[in-house]
Amino acid sequence: MVTSAYPIVVIGAGQAGLQVCDSLRKGGYDGRLILLGDEGVLPYQRPPLSKKFLTGALQAERLAFRPASYYDKIAVELRLDARVTRIDRAAHAVILADGEVIHYSRLALTTGTRVRPLPCPGGELEDVYYVRTLADGERLAARLARATRVVIIGGGFIGLEVAAVARELGLQVVVIEALERLMARAVSPLVSEFYAGLHRQHGVEVKLGRSVHAIRSAAGGVNVELDDGSSHAADCVVAGIGVIPNSELAAACGLACNNGIVVDVGARTSDREIVAAGDCSFHYNGFLAREIRLESVQNAVDQAKVAAASLCGDSASYYQVPWFWSDQYDLKLQMAGVGMPHDASVLRGEVGPAGFSVFYFRAGALVGADSINRPAEHMACRKLLMQGTMLTPAAAADQDFDLLALARS
Ligand SMILES: Cc1cc2nc3c(=O)[nH]c(=O)nc-3n(C[C@H](O)[C@H](O)[C@H](O)COP(=O)(O)OP(=O)(O)OC[C@H]3O[C@@H](n4cnc5c(N)ncnc54)[C@H](O)[C@@H]3O)c2cc1C
Repeated sequence: MVTSAYPIVVIGAGQAGLQVCDSLRKGGYDGRLILLGDEGVLPYQRPPLSKKFLTGALQAERLAFRPASYYDKIAVELRLDARVTRIDRAAHAVILADGEVIHYSRLALTTGTRVRPLPCPGGELEDVYYVRTLADGERLAARLARATRVVIIGGGFIGLEVAAVARELGLQVVVIEALERLMARAVSPLVSEFYAGLHRQHGVEVKLGRSVHAIRSAAGGVNVELDDGSSHAADCVVAGIGVIPNSELAAACGLACNNGIVVDVGARTSDREIVAAGDCSFHYNGFLAREIRLESVQNAVDQAKVAAASLCGDSASYYQVPWFWSDQYDLKLQMAGVGMPHDASVLRGEVGPAGFSVFYFRAGALVGADSINRPAEHMACRKLLMQGTMLTPAAAADQDFDLLALARS
């Protein structure tokens, strides 16, 4: 247990930061606890920002994880306009943008990521939108509500979720993806192809293997010029081309960084008194037996729990099956494990909107599955992976084979 007179300080009031605080209190830490955020709003859920929130059907207040009173209840000193600009490890202090110095006994870095800006000319135009923060979501929702044509750059989860909402709102939608298939980093060609067909059936123009050369201002909006010489007029552009980990604070104070803040299985950085968790961490993932940086709610929550235990001096190891979801139209895509790369895959069910799963194997062992509108199979796969239960490709493909019973056994 930490006994120093200084508080534990958590930098980054997002999913992981809140979870660190919560878990510290649940774990019995009763000292001072300060959570520093720089967005000016209570910690909130980001996933709806590219989904339902854009339809206007979900109020911003509904996104907050907890009401303000919760932080008082668990004695967390929540500071919402407190941007940390420097960490002084020798002095055990963090320095805020206004010069205030806050000393810490132990420190947690849960600084998340920021959007990768478009590298092409015009990426900074006012009619180019990104989706990371609540402010981004509010701006984009307002723009979509008075737009008729949108070009989406990036056929990953965020771009495709926005595309689905934009179609539901009745906009003309073009999706431009530089790779030859959608969501290529995360799903197999079969799933990519299904989603390309789905979006096309909903009226989206999906352009694969095309990159954006420039975005130019035009009357009433923008013109998006592609590398093949074609161009698309739109009221606005939404870019979803990935994120950059917020690891500069950590790097500047000498912590090891490499595609994020490097941490061990206990979420400890190269300084034993500083942990890091969530999107900003490049961690050894015990389940995957390799280092990785994950961008998911699951990782933010589970790794933050381990970080809190480490802050209290307990030994905890991060060992969880990664999982993720994406909502597009009325389909829920759920991913368990990390199926890419794989050397074999089998289909369970028939490819179609009624739902199916694709199970992935490496060297004969199950490594992941993508399930479309098959929540029970997704849950079964998570259990099988966690337990290390043997599943053969033949059994996975056999719809009469009871996966749930195997997962329970
Ligand atoms: C639009 C969108 C849709 C998503 N959809 C899904 C989904 O469907 N499923 C899923 O699993 N995941 C989804 N995610 C990812 C998920 O939201 C993130 O993985 C999760 O929020 C990560 O939590 P975090 O606490 O690590 O980072 P964040 O939630 O980004 O929190 C980090 C906080 O730290 C603050 N900060 C950074 N630097 C400083 C500083 N110097 N001083 C003070 N504060 C600082 C940031 O402003 C931010 O508030 C989505 C993300 C987005 C943006």
